[in-house]
Amino acid sequence: MRRAGLSLASNAMTSADKFTIIEGCSVSKARTGLLQLSHYVIETPMFMPVGTKGCMKGVLPEQLEELDVQIILGNTYHLGLKPGPELLRKAGGLHKFMNWKRGMLTDSGGFQMVSLLKLTEITEEGVQFESPYSSSNPSTASKGRKKWKSSTGTEKAPGSPRADGEAVVPSKDLMMLTPEKSMEIQNAIGADIMMQLDDVVSSTTTGPRVEEAMDRSIRWLKRCGKAHSRADEQFLFPIVQGGLNMTLRERSVSGILEDEYTGYAIGGLSGGEAKNDFWKVVDASTTLLPKSKPRYVMGVGYAEDLVVCCALGADMFDCVFPTRTARFGCALVDAGQLNLRLKQYASDHTPIDPTCKCLTCQRYTRSYLHHIVTDIPTAARLMSIHNIAYQMNLMRRIRNSLRVNRFPEFVTQFMQNRYGDKEIPSWITDALTSVGIVLTRDTQAVSSDSIDSQSDRKKRSADGEETGEQ
Ligand SMILES: [Zn+2]
Repeated sequence: MRRAGLSLASNAMTSADKFTIIEGCSVSKARTGLLQLSHYVIETPMFMPVGTKGCMKGVLPEQLEELDVQIILGNTYHLGLKPGPELLRKAGGLHKFMNWKRGMLTDSGGFQMVSLLKLTEITEEGVQFESPYSSSNPSTASKGRKKWKSSTGTEKAPGSPRADGEAVVPSKDLMMLTPEKSMEIQNAIGADIMMQLDDVVSSTTTGPRVEEAMDRSIRWLKRCGKAHSRADEQFLFPIVQGGLNMTLRERSVSGILEDEYTGYAIGGLSGGEAKNDFWKVVDASTTLLPKSKPRYVMGVGYAEDLVVCCALGADMFDCVFPTRTARFGCALVDAGQLNLRLKQYASDHTPIDPTCKCLTCQRYTRSYLHHIVTDIPTAARLMSIHNIAYQMNLMRRIRNSLRVNRFPEFVTQFMQNRYGDKEIPSWITDALTSVGIVLTRDTQAVSSDSIDSQSDRKKRSADGEETGEQ
């Protein structure tokens, strides 16, 4: 499929203009644009499926391309442990290792440590945690202890500091992730976008700890910048922190904006906070961040959250939810989720979504998927394909509606499809109203098909004008 963005010459842009806004909504803060990465030009707004360990469970990289996935997310914590930075460097980076030619983003590794591991201690130096391959853990001891070696590959005596301040394995069973170590691993992985190591606190935490974490995250950002060795190929994204406190969010943004970056992330959300707090922090953060740069809201994947966050001016999203819920037999559709384990689907001979062009919907029925849902590998694979296709289609519909300035109509129709006769949650109506989209039942229904065909016509004519082709 031809995309207008691919005609941009890769060497014609400075780092300041890697992001081009193609069209902005005339009502809300939503916009659609192109972000030029080292490996690929991605269209925004964009959802990034999570391939934790360098693969998307059950879905091949070639299939992800067919589904129009333009950028994937890899987890630094897992990849740093296995296969590890040394092997990834030898393999020429994760792109080559897994044969993925499009965009890639890696997280810093910090979030997984805080959420998955025992004995996490956060100091100014970094995040210290118990090795998951601890010799004191009988279930993993036999596999041998894994550790993150320093860049020279030499083992250090327990607890010995390095002259450059990089942490080393401090004892047999403790490991330390510092901003420098996170950059070293992410430089070895070679993703187009790398996230700074931040001091993560739960979104429901209150009190002085939130401020401490926010300030420390800014200091760690500076250390990440210094340690980053491939700045011309990999973009470092800072993360706005500050919990649910708007003053702290403001201070976080001004600390981050002391230097210029290609894009910015909004972190510390989607951790169980009230939806009313969630949208207000997203809204405040996108208003504070530069308009000319992409904004990435971390950990967002529910369809209604994606639509609302786009209206609030966010451009990039990631979440494990679509593929995780697929493995539990749940298929995503505009009206919500279909739990194909339920008996009601046993004799339903329609596809998950008759309008979906994915392999699963083209070839298999709800009845068949219900029948095989307990055969985990096959069912998870087919369900993951559909759920990734659903996320990609949703983002495409959002982009297309923006291209023809019909985003408010799309949002109205989407929310009507999603909630039907039920009341639309007040946080959604409040968030949308705050940016000028007022949902009313009487709004003229506009099918997304008609928005798509308008957008296709506009895109074709734009492509023709740009390249001289018809
Ligand atoms: Zn499908």
